[in-house]
Amino acid sequence: MNPPYPLTPIAEALERLLAEFSPLNVEEIALEHSADRVLAEEIVSQIDLPAFANSSMDGFAVRSADVAEAAENWRVTLKVVADIPAGTHPEGRIEPGQAARIMTGAAIPEGADAVVPVEDTDIGIRSAGTVAPQQVQICHPAAPGANLRPRGQDVRTGETVLTPRRRLRPQDVGVLAMLGMSQIPVFRRPRVGILSPGDELLHPGETLQPGKIYESNSYVLKGLVTQCGGNVYSLGIIPDDFDAVRNSLDTAVESGVDCLLSSGGVSVGAFDFVRAVLEREGELTLWRVNMRPGKPLAFGRYRGVPYFGLPGNPVSAYVGYQVFVKPALTKMMGLNPMPRLTRQVRLLEAIESDGRESYLRAHASIGPDGWEVNLTGHQGSGNLRSLVQANALVIVPADITYLPAGTQAEAWFFDGFSG
Ligand code: AMP
Ligand code: MG
Repeated sequence: MNPPYPLTPIAEALERLLAEFSPLNVEEIALEHSADRVLAEEIVSQIDLPAFANSSMDGFAVRSADVAEAAENWRVTLKVVADIPAGTHPEGRIEPGQAARIMTGAAIPEGADAVVPVEDTDIGIRSAGTVAPQQVQICHPAAPGANLRPRGQDVRTGETVLTPRRRLRPQDVGVLAMLGMSQIPVFRRPRVGILSPGDELLHPGETLQPGKIYESNSYVLKGLVTQCGGNVYSLGIIPDDFDAVRNSLDTAVESGVDCLLSSGGVSVGAFDFVRAVLEREGELTLWRVNMRPGKPLAFGRYRGVPYFGLPGNPVSAYVGYQVFVKPALTKMMGLNPMPRLTRQVRLLEAIESDGRESYLRAHASIGPDGWEVNLTGHQGSGNLRSLVQANALVIVPADITYLPAGTQAEAWFFDGFSG
């Protein structure tokens, strides 16, 4: 890429950049670690669920024909020939005139085709440990199949239970457990190297000195990458120096990162070495997008590894992450990038823009006429507090410079939005 660098429209930049990403390889992990991971293969059940017909109540397994006429004033007495707790396999067969005491989840014995809940018998509810009675009086009829869960009611052998490319939710992990799977095929998590070049940067906890600031972007980015499902390899604060930036990138590449992420050092300043390193030692495929905040965003490759050079200003870095990096990580994890969670909101104040596609920090709430938003504080791209106060970003499309109060605009909700 050679100067002059045009301002690439966001949609075009995103499309170009996403074309360079594909899902990482598949690994097998233990079931207990599979929550939130992205399933890589179709899961076809090898068993029926339930695997055997079982009782859904504590009561008595009966032959429904025996109790068809049972009533409060016409009790049917059955001989109790077996006691079936959960976890056992009943041996005998229930013949006419017989019943078996049975617990929830226990296998239905041969011959029985219904369960009468203990409440519908003369036995009543007994405390744990009570031995089975010799006989039982049934006071209510039970239809064939009553209170039992037939084999395969939920899942049949050979059925597809989960399709790939979904993030496993707790209930999904539960069904994998029910299927007896202990090793789960998932996409490998992207390993993301994060570096913060800047001679002005101090570690929080150090004594503030004239001209210095506390480094904050790596904390935000680490949180966002982790939230998305990536693993972070922290490279720390790097001096504004060509070799230092290059050495740091080399260390990351040698440690096997899938993606590199830096903030700052990509503008046109005399100390902006990130872009220089990419141009000389790597490949710069994109620089400067038509967005606000976040224009000086760079994308390329360093020794073959995809590289995002986010702007240094904290809000620009955040927005750049949300717009570009997150969809790319999502794709590496094997998911289809989710459409943005947006809704139409009414502006409570006028918005001015400079014609770039703008992402303005806003607070949305439900008013008498539906969703409405206010901007939060000064929109300077270094002011993180206004992002802390925001729960949405109002998107002003490119080429629009003014939206009067009262108009509808698109608001992007993110990060476990809370009113
Ligand atoms: P730069 O693109 O390096 O000129 O950075 C633009 C602005 O972002 C400057 O005000 C930097 O001090 C600030 N900045 C750069 N990196 C960080 C960082 N890691 N944490 C907080 N602020 C930063
Ligand atoms: Mg800098």
